[in-house]
Amino acid sequence: MATAGKVIKCRAAVAWEPSKPLVMEEIEVAPPQAHEIRIKIVATGVCHTDLYHLFEGKHKDGFPCVLGHEGAGIVESVGSEVTKFNPGDKVIPLFISQCGQCRFCKSPKTNLCEKGWASERYDVMSESDTRFTCKGKKVLQFMGTSTFSEYTVVNEIAVAKIHPSAPLDKVCLLGCGVATGYGAALNTAKVEPGSTCAVFGLGAVGLAAVMGCKNAGAKRIIAIDINPTKYEKAKVFGATEFVNPKDHNKPISQVLHEMTNGGVDFSLECVGSVAVMRSALESCVKGWGVSVLVGWTDMDDFAARPIQLIAGRTWKGSLFGGFKSKDGVPKLVNEYLEKKVKLDEFVTHNMTLAQVNDAIQLMKTGDCIRSVLSVALQ
Ligand code: NAD
Ligand code: ZN
Repeated sequence: MATAGKVIKCRAAVAWEPSKPLVMEEIEVAPPQAHEIRIKIVATGVCHTDLYHLFEGKHKDGFPCVLGHEGAGIVESVGSEVTKFNPGDKVIPLFISQCGQCRFCKSPKTNLCEKGWASERYDVMSESDTRFTCKGKKVLQFMGTSTFSEYTVVNEIAVAKIHPSAPLDKVCLLGCGVATGYGAALNTAKVEPGSTCAVFGLGAVGLAAVMGCKNAGAKRIIAIDINPTKYEKAKVFGATEFVNPKDHNKPISQVLHEMTNGGVDFSLECVGSVAVMRSALESCVKGWGVSVLVGWTDMDDFAARPIQLIAGRTWKGSLFGGFKSKDGVPKLVNEYLEKKVKLDEFVTHNMTLAQVNDAIQLMKTGDCIRSVLSVALQ
């Protein structure tokens, strides 16, 4: 590659400050250092966590940054000591690393690698050690990835090499939303055959949770959203019933208890609201009900009555669907290629990186499931 070892100037959508539109800028991307990989991003999804950082979390020290963490691309060059990747490999950058060495990686109980972005600067969701500059200013890498850029640099412990025939404009969704919801049902809730499940929030994360419940053999999958346009899509992924909280003048947990003779076996919160988290817990049956937090927020504390847990319910959380990232993502890509996992059905809009603000607007108004942006030419 003619660019190897040199600074690359390329286009990126920069978030200069909270709550403002992203600005297309020319940025400089430094060459990869030891154990790092420079990736040409070909496609990226827009996830609600990008919107969260921009509009809801608003931590000032998380800006300026390049958002985007649901991308796929091709290795442009590798730093010294990288042995398992070569230029031309198809890859997915990972916001959860897997170093394979730390005590968390060695435990089968968790996917929270100690060396990943998730172990530091959790609140501001950006890496302080960045390879990006723009107009002489350091620009942070959101979730250690920054896929709203034609090129990015990621540590090799946070990159998955995937099947060479994988279509990057689809498998990018396995970099976050689809892996997250799907794994939350399979790995974290551990949904059982014949069970009754409730999924709150029918964005890509929630729909992927529906798909996970179905693939685990759930008998009833109740899909809940305040936006009724999401219901048709939920059916495609296996939902059997729909509830719109706005159609009821009693708590949604009561509605679900009445529908299921005492509550659901598994519930998954895929909205990111502490009020919905509580409803999801209270919708579970006593004795064995399991409720999983998937939606993201660190703005508010949550509340619940202790009796909910004393009576035998379990409340858990799931980051990236509980998948060990480097091991899990290539397997999910293969499952998509074998048609065991759906991806195409999540994509409602295809656009270019320059249209990223339109894609953000579509998610804000609830008029999309996933917009996939084409970034650099393949
Ligand atoms: P999205 O905005 O596409 O979907 C959210 C859905 O929730 C929308 O359909 C919306 O109508 C619905 N909703 C809003 N309020 C509701 C309510 N009161 N009751 C029921 N439904 C309601 O978002 P997404 O990209 O699917 O992400 C969903 C959540 O998952 C976000 O909070 C995101 O930050 C989080 N997330 C978490 C992880 C993780 O690792 N845990 C990873 C990715 C995303
Ligand atoms: Zn995400």
